[in-house]
Amino acid sequence: MADTGPHGQTAAPGILRANRRELPTDMSTQTTPRFDLPTPDEHSQVFWDAARAGKLLIGRCESCAMAHYYPRPFCPHCGWPSVVWEEASGAGSLYTWSVVHQNDLPPFGERVPYVAAIVDLAEGPRMMTNVIDCAFEDLAAGMALQVAFQDIGEGFTIPVFRPAVQAA
Ligand SMILES: [Zn+2]
Repeated sequence: MADTGPHGQTAAPGILRANRRELPTDMSTQTTPRFDLPTPDEHSQVFWDAARAGKLLIGRCESCAMAHYYPRPFCPHCGWPSVVWEEASGAGSLYTWSVVHQNDLPPFGERVPYVAAIVDLAEGPRMMTNVIDCAFEDLAAGMALQVAFQDIGEGFTIPVFRPAVQAA
């Protein structure tokens, strides 16, 4: 679980990697840093722009045809340097989760308790994310989920998941 943060919070591309070095040295004259904001680079900007438009993007390899998440400029399965963006269906199922009750990194402390989860996307990749709109006692392995989008401010929207509405 190399992409899991130190407190088990979820990761989207860039979160917790680059922001850490922007910690102010003098806390008294700086605003509170945020550890939840991504730092898009040239590649991941496409992902964040799509998320703001309500689309979840994954990567698809042009050689082995396998999908991956989070999107990278090369295929993590076979190393091929040519991948294309693909809009995921947004359907997934809950693989595992943890209810986070304490997280000292701002602004997560204001959000506890929340559900840090690993979701199996219908296209195959596993994704670290959050599950919202579900009572903790109702969480169950394998439950059907659907992507939703949460505005976290500063111009960023993150993909999260909520229980899928079952067809009548
Ligand atoms: Zn590949």
